[in-house]
Amino acid sequence: MSHNSTRNLIDVAAGRKPADFVLKNGRIVNVVSNEIHKGDIAIVGGRIAGIGTYRADRTVDLGGKHICPGFIDAHVHIESSMLAVQEYARVVAACGTTAVVADPHEFANVMGIEGISYVLKTSEGAPIRVYVTLSSCVPASPLESAGATLEADDLRQFLSHPRVVGLAEMMNYPGVINGDAGVLAKLSMCEGRIIDGHAPSLSGNLLNAYAASGIMSDHECIRAEEAAEKLRLGLSIMIREGSQTRNLAALLPLVTPATADRFMFCTDDKDVRDLIDEGHIDYMIRTAIAGGLDPILAIRLATWNTARYFRMHGAGAILPGYRADLVVLDDLKTCKVADVYVDGVKTVEGGRCISPTVRLTGKDGRDTVHISKLSKSDTRIVADQSHSRKIHVIEVLDNRIDTERSIVEGPL
Ligand SMILES: [Zn+2]
Repeated sequence: MSHNSTRNLIDVAAGRKPADFVLKNGRIVNVVSNEIHKGDIAIVGGRIAGIGTYRADRTVDLGGKHICPGFIDAHVHIESSMLAVQEYARVVAACGTTAVVADPHEFANVMGIEGISYVLKTSEGAPIRVYVTLSSCVPASPLESAGATLEADDLRQFLSHPRVVGLAEMMNYPGVINGDAGVLAKLSMCEGRIIDGHAPSLSGNLLNAYAASGIMSDHECIRAEEAAEKLRLGLSIMIREGSQTRNLAALLPLVTPATADRFMFCTDDKDVRDLIDEGHIDYMIRTAIAGGLDPILAIRLATWNTARYFRMHGAGAILPGYRADLVVLDDLKTCKVADVYVDGVKTVEGGRCISPTVRLTGKDGRDTVHISKLSKSDTRIVADQSHSRKIHVIEVLDNRIDTERSIVEGPL
């Protein structure tokens, strides 16, 4: 902030100058002091100046409704929504989301570094703030026929971007554990920044090796015991509830007032149908509350914890000097979103996004996936009849991202 805007903020906070507007008669969900209290919220220049008794020419009467900080998704692939960035932003904004941390992994898998640029460019002017973690594993596996291979030197150029916060899920955990040179180069490039993990089922000495590398979090925990071991070794846990993978019910018992600081909420992959039918991070809050979690704690996981983990200064709480990213709730327990403000500007009214759609200019990512037409015969698995008709199968499990191995008899 410039000196002038800081001076202005201080003058309004001290009551010497009127605010741009004041939100009155709300019940403030304070995720820092863990209480709900009354007070006017004075806003100037997109920031919260103070909480207490304030005046302004324009006041908004919240009529006793709860008001909380904007929700933040700690890890998401926007492409899994099947929407372009701006449209995704409009859908999740209506759910009370004011920021997401996006890993443009699939965009990068197809378009290379242009995929990362695409997300950074097309998120400008969106009704949510889109932070980016740099896709660490493009391609995800050498077995993929991806559109690009990204090394540390390809990613480095993005580190100076103000919305790039670190390295995205390091899913090449064998590479970490075995000290792969390319993986180590990416980790050391992001030293001092945020480095997200992805280590399904890793345990014991190998999990120690993974944590020792500087990786700070994991969002792949399926069972409570798995998350407990990762917590014990210092990893923060992003609880994931997406379209296919739903881990909230299994991990919720681990969230207690003593451990709550170490948990965040994320969706990872959630398609537009589920976002509209169920919601986004608001859905996780209401599900956690229904599961017995204290409402203030549930909101803290979705706001303050994520902002602190990603070092988003001035975000994630209703505090003097903080960004006016605010959600007014019709109902606390069901987390029903009424109005949303981002930087003090109303983006959602009565549960509907009112921000104008920003039209894309320039490259829009179209015509970038080139595969030949598939026919039924391309999916045929031919058993080696000289031996047996038995075929190894990767089994998909309901609501799970992990798979099982089985052997079935193929047709002759
Ligand atoms: Zn992911």
